[in-house]
Amino acid sequence: MEEPTVQGFDFSLINEFFTELERQGPGSSEETIRALSFIKNLSSKTKIADLGCGTGFQTMVLARNTEAIITALDLYAGSIDKLNAAAGKLGLQNRIKGIVGSMDNLPFQSDEFDVIWSEGAIANIGFEKGLNYWKNFLKKDGYVAVTYESWFTDERPAEIEKWWVDAVPEIGTIGHNISIMQKTGYIPVAAFTLSESCWIDNYFIPQKARQAEFLKKHAGNKTVEDMIAFMRREADLYSKYKQYYGYVFYIGKKI
Ligand code: SAH
Repeated sequence: MEEPTVQGFDFSLINEFFTELERQGPGSSEETIRALSFIKNLSSKTKIADLGCGTGFQTMVLARNTEAIITALDLYAGSIDKLNAAAGKLGLQNRIKGIVGSMDNLPFQSDEFDVIWSEGAIANIGFEKGLNYWKNFLKKDGYVAVTYESWFTDERPAEIEKWWVDAVPEIGTIGHNISIMQKTGYIPVAAFTLSESCWIDNYFIPQKARQAEFLKKHAGNKTVEDMIAFMRREADLYSKYKQYYGYVFYIGKKI
């Protein structure tokens, strides 16, 4: 049987599953704050765009740890509704604005932002294409900070190689990705790997109860069954092969 791939699943079904969870990708407050520590001259005038923000876990971390004005963008309207409601509850509606849009067709002005942030989402446009395109919306000396799936080693077992090349065809090593950052017009400032807990405690474990609930809600739906089987396999593969890959935070400064 052919293995189902992420791309094969319906966008709104995936989002229906994930928007009930705190995070839609691996990450943590600590890693977001660590990435922020490399960004200089943050002030109340700083403008940050958070692309592929989902329901905004990292958006709130950025808001709490800076005085910046943040525009958070996602293609899925349900996530943006949740994000704006959460910002309102926290009294952050003056500094956080969630908007629906696509990261490959941004409704922004040239040189509008000091920082472009994106956790677990740049693969949707492609690492090189995203860095190239987003640069237009950054001021000179502005920063980009993204997390991206990366290989930790030059060689990988075939099983995990195939899985990731199917999901993210241009997946590369950390060194390769840093060279792309340099090639697309940024000075690489920092790169660090996300901890295993970002995957296990903040991504895979919270999915478990939601998977059972989702299968019940959509009983008999083959697409849902395939989607959940895919997610379970993703978690199994991570525990088997986590020494070979992970998310890496890449921070660069526009030249
Ligand atoms: N940053 C969040 C969400 C990551 S999941 C977190 O780390 O928890 C990836 C997000 O990218 C999803 O919310 C999905 O809706 C969004 N997305 C996918 N393609 C997109 C596109 N073309 N433009 C904007 N957002 C997109």
